[in-house]
Amino acid sequence: MIRPYRYILAALLPAVAFAALTLFPSFGVTAVSSRSPVLSGIHAWTNEIYTRVAIYTGEEVEWHANTASAVPAQNLPPRIFVDIRGAEIDGDILHKPVGINNGLLQRVRAGRNNKDTIRVVIDLERDSTFRVFALPDPYRIIIDVDGEGEIPLPRENTAATQNPPAVSVDAPREPAILAEPPSPAPPVSRRVRVMLDPGHGGKDPGAVGPTGLKEKDVVLAIGRMVRERMARHNDFEVRMTRDSDVFIPLEERTAIANRSRADIFVSLHINASPSRAVKGVSTYVFSRGAGNQEDLELAARENGVPVARLQGVKFIVDDMFTGARKNESLRLAKTVNDAIHRTASSGRGSVANLGLKQAPFFVLVGARMPSILVESHFISNAQEEALLRDEKHLGKIADGIVEAICYYGRKGVFPGQEL
Ligand SMILES: [Zn+2]
Repeated sequence: MIRPYRYILAALLPAVAFAALTLFPSFGVTAVSSRSPVLSGIHAWTNEIYTRVAIYTGEEVEWHANTASAVPAQNLPPRIFVDIRGAEIDGDILHKPVGINNGLLQRVRAGRNNKDTIRVVIDLERDSTFRVFALPDPYRIIIDVDGEGEIPLPRENTAATQNPPAVSVDAPREPAILAEPPSPAPPVSRRVRVMLDPGHGGKDPGAVGPTGLKEKDVVLAIGRMVRERMARHNDFEVRMTRDSDVFIPLEERTAIANRSRADIFVSLHINASPSRAVKGVSTYVFSRGAGNQEDLELAARENGVPVARLQGVKFIVDDMFTGARKNESLRLAKTVNDAIHRTASSGRGSVANLGLKQAPFFVLVGARMPSILVESHFISNAQEEALLRDEKHLGKIADGIVEAICYYGRKGVFPGQEL
């Protein structure tokens, strides 16, 4: 059967193509801090049809991305390069290419192109499409590379052997180029793969309730309950971006879902409001803007950036996946929200249903599958904080999510299952 995403790509993009998803202008940005940017780390998450590369500079930089065609006479493959101006580079990264060799990328390397410019080069195995965007605080440039056409078999000499996968979740801050080993190819027929993403963790508590309950602990508990309950359903496989109290950058969470070939991505959060009276359950899908000030403030908080910074972000989402995926995400979000509302309303009385919403959440940018962000209750409301302390109530929220995932997952047709 034709897998629609790849078919569209193959039809429209015969050669290396450049599709920029720019959150910030490439040039002419104003420095927001007197600290100078330093290219301190490059991190890659990969399988043989997808790679996300993150370049960490800490402070905002001017950058420009482009492609170069293969030059067979000079033994040069097709390349993607990102020129970064006015930044220093950590000595550990300079001139130390990291081999990936996953059938999509050969390697990532960084060097000085001239006095003012650092060039990060991604040597491709074959023609590919890619998108580049930047996220603020700390500033990082993200490159998502998609393979197209035939999928070659993974080579023996992979990043797993060249670069030990001893990468902690905080690794992007370390001065090194790091590459996760490619995820193995899926079996011919497989279960629906669900990636649960308990928000926050580690140094990031998320929202905190009036009596000190932390969002990061509540969403991890809900995630574990969902996973436990889903284990009864043999046609599903559940994974989590985190299963302990650790910090994981937002771009890494999306990358984990993508490289795992997840079919469904559910980011778990608890809402908060300066108005302590606000209560209820809502579920979000990604959009470039927010419908109202509350949603904008929520997205800014979940993104870990000030509202003014988020408002300055220019989302140019000319991503060919977006249309079909957004409709699916909306359908998934409605299914999940209705189910949580129903299960959470049993027992101690009705829970307010704030419904389906849209806002610019960074964790959903670049996700290759239907992806949603659940905000179950307001931890800022004393009554709802008490509910979130109650394991039985968390179980009801988990029941709703399980019910919805099963309903949605059994109706959906996912690329991995069509192989
Ligand atoms: Zn959150």
